[in-house]
Amino acid sequence: MSDNTRLRIAVQKSGRLSDDSIAVLKAIGIKLQIRDRLLIAHSTNQAIDLLRVRDDDIPGLVMDGVVDLGFIGENELEEKMLERKAANKKHEYKTLRRLDYGGCRLSIAVPNEMQYDSVASLEGKKVATTYPFLLERFFAEQGVNAQAVMLTGSVEVAPRAGVADAICDLVSTGATLEANGLREKDVVFKSKAVLIQKAKALSEEKQALVSRLLPRIDGVIQAKESKYIMLHAPKAYLEQVKSLLPGAENPTVLPLSGHDDRVAVHVVSSETLFWETMEKLKALGCSSILVMPIEKMMG
Ligand code: ATP
Ligand code: MG
Repeated sequence: MSDNTRLRIAVQKSGRLSDDSIAVLKAIGIKLQIRDRLLIAHSTNQAIDLLRVRDDDIPGLVMDGVVDLGFIGENELEEKMLERKAANKKHEYKTLRRLDYGGCRLSIAVPNEMQYDSVASLEGKKVATTYPFLLERFFAEQGVNAQAVMLTGSVEVAPRAGVADAICDLVSTGATLEANGLREKDVVFKSKAVLIQKAKALSEEKQALVSRLLPRIDGVIQAKESKYIMLHAPKAYLEQVKSLLPGAENPTVLPLSGHDDRVAVHVVSSETLFWETMEKLKALGCSSILVMPIEKMMG
């Protein structure tokens, strides 16, 4: 039996969310030894066990309280929530963080030759999807009578196979749609990966661990969006230099030994520095301009 005092986290075993979810856990200091075929991975430095499963199973595991936390795409989460709600099963959970990966949209796409002005063009038609609950909610909101046909895979070939008139599927670039002679028309749901927690309270120890890990997740996300900028600037133009640096309210200004007229400016910026701005800084007399990635941040 597994040890119930260890925090249990569900992640997708293999797929689009696996690598990024594991990367978050590693970045916040959780050491993991993942063996490809094993369902469970124990952390060697924290009281944490990873449960590696198909993403379809993650919302249910969290809602039933079998695991404490889960990394999951909002599309799958919301679909399972609606499905379980309709079946009178437990469907509560808490969203802890919206993450910066797994971005995609659930969209309606129709064959190139089909006339489509708005969702109303689907009146009386069949639409193949892996997300019937999200799609039917959308139809209800739009006041359209169309039928969602559930397919767990190969959704994009459904119109050619004569199974449906149109499809509703996940899209990120649209290349798959194009390759199948389909055009993206309406977005039904926009999704990113999220970290969720079971609705029932955690033990004090587990909650303390989660509360310690969340600021680390914030720090990792914030760090990815930030840059550390260093440059040497002429003292006389310091104000102009500061105004060119994006999102940098409080730069550190340091003397440069042997150069009374120049200073070193260090700043954490919420944006990157574009080549155009670097050229302007250079024109003001700045030198040694460096833009560096940040690994971790804490306020
Ligand atoms: P599993 O075997 O775990 O059930 P899967 O085939 O259902 O895997 P993946 O294709 O790995 O799932 O996608 C997992 C999640 O990744 C999606 O539910 C979605 O949230 C997200 N995602 C991000 N970009 C895309 C995309 N272009 N197409 C599909 N899913 C995407
Ligand atoms: Mg799946």
